[in-house]
Amino acid sequence: MIQISDMCKIYNMGDNSIYALNNVSLHIYKHEFVAIVGPSGSGKSTLMNMLGCLDVPTTGNYVLDGHEVSKLNDSQLAEIRNKKIGFIFQGFNLLKKLTAIENVELPLIYQGIGHKERHRRSVEALELVGLGDRIYHTPNELSGGQQQRVAIARALVSNPPLILADEPTGNLDTKSGMEIMKTLHELHKKGNTIVLITHDNNVAAQAQRIINIQDGMITEDKEAV
Ligand code: ADP
Ligand code: ADP
Repeated sequence: MIQISDMCKIYNMGDNSIYALNNVSLHIYKHEFVAIVGPSGSGKSTLMNMLGCLDVPTTGNYVLDGHEVSKLNDSQLAEIRNKKIGFIFQGFNLLKKLTAIENVELPLIYQGIGHKERHRRSVEALELVGLGDRIYHTPNELSGGQQQRVAIARALVSNPPLILADEPTGNLDTKSGMEIMKTLHELHKKGNTIVLITHDNNVAAQAQRIINIQDGMITEDKEAV
């Protein structure tokens, strides 16, 4: 699914070069559930930006589901993002004026899918995350955990090969965070490939494989116990 080789991301700050990523090589296979964990400033956001096709590396290659993405321009990156990746963010990123189902339908609208089919698939996605009885609620009528589950439904409704979750439990209390991790586990069981980025070792420990990043380098890559 993901093949990264010898990737560097260098920020030039005056006379200083900051290696936010320093020669990272990483393979993630289909159907894996991987956590990338590291302290603040270790390069997680930078790696997330690369994995999510939000930015391109300074050097090195990135092949996502068979496509070489390290040399694409902005509009090509946008296209591959829409086709290949479902995003889940710390802050949910839902549109406040839209209902749960309208939020979930958005990626399908971009793909030009008709109203009936959109509705059917969005109801199915919301049922899958346990919100079948909340589809006409707006975000302010839902708890934080429920809002994040709407965001998960939105991420998976277009069946992207990769789900990228950036600190998905960061804004939630422990109990809601556990429920979100449970939902991600269920998606994993159904065959999704999930990459989770977190600074929280307890969250990372719930993945199948844990990759540690420090100073822009992978320092450990192990199966979870
Ligand atoms: P994390 O997400 O793990 O906190 P980041 O990827 O945000 O880490 O940052 C990694 C390193 O790169 C840090 O030293 C940070 O200051 C630096 N960095 C990140 N983004 C930029 C940028 N746009 N310009 C300059 N330096 C940056
Ligand atoms: P996170 O909370 O995900 O770790 P950060 O606080 O590290 O995020 O970074 C937030 C944003 O600021 C990111 O988009 C990152 O690229 C940018 N950034 C981080 N460090 C720097 C820096 N030293 N100079 C400029 N931009 C930075």
